[in-house]
Order: sequence, then structure tokens, then C-alpha cells
Amino acid sequence: MDQPTPRPAPPGTEAPSVVCARCGAQSPAGAPPTWTCSVENGTRQYFCVDCARANLRAIEGRLDSAWW
Ligand SMILES: [Zn+2]
Repeated sequence: MDQPTPRPAPPGTEAPSVVCARCGAQSPAGAPPTWTCSVENGTRQYFCVDCARANLRAIEGRLDSAWW
């Protein structure tokens, strides 16, 4: 419990918690409206405020996060 491990939600399960795909920040109550949702290769990924702001250009350019 003292070291939470970010992990993707199991398919078919509507997990309330989301994890920032870049820095691993967790939001246990679901993605806040300030977070950015980006679909890459058919997979929905979330980015926290700081990461979204830092990579706004890349996200708007629809570049995969692998580019960052
Ligand atoms: Zn982040």
C-alpha cells in the first residue's frame, strides 16, 4: 500500500482510477476535467495537467508519446 504501482485498467473493466501515461501520477477518483485524454494507437491515455501543458504541442500534433 505504501508503494502504489501504476498499471493499466483491465480491458472490459470500467476502472474509476486513471494514471498519467507520462509521469505516473494517479487520480483515484477518475480523470479530472483538467486532465487531457489522448488516444494513441487505439488506446486511451491520460495526461495530468503538468504533462499536458508541457506537451501540449505534441498532443495537438497527435504525435505519439514515444516522440516526447
Ligand atoms: Zn503527468
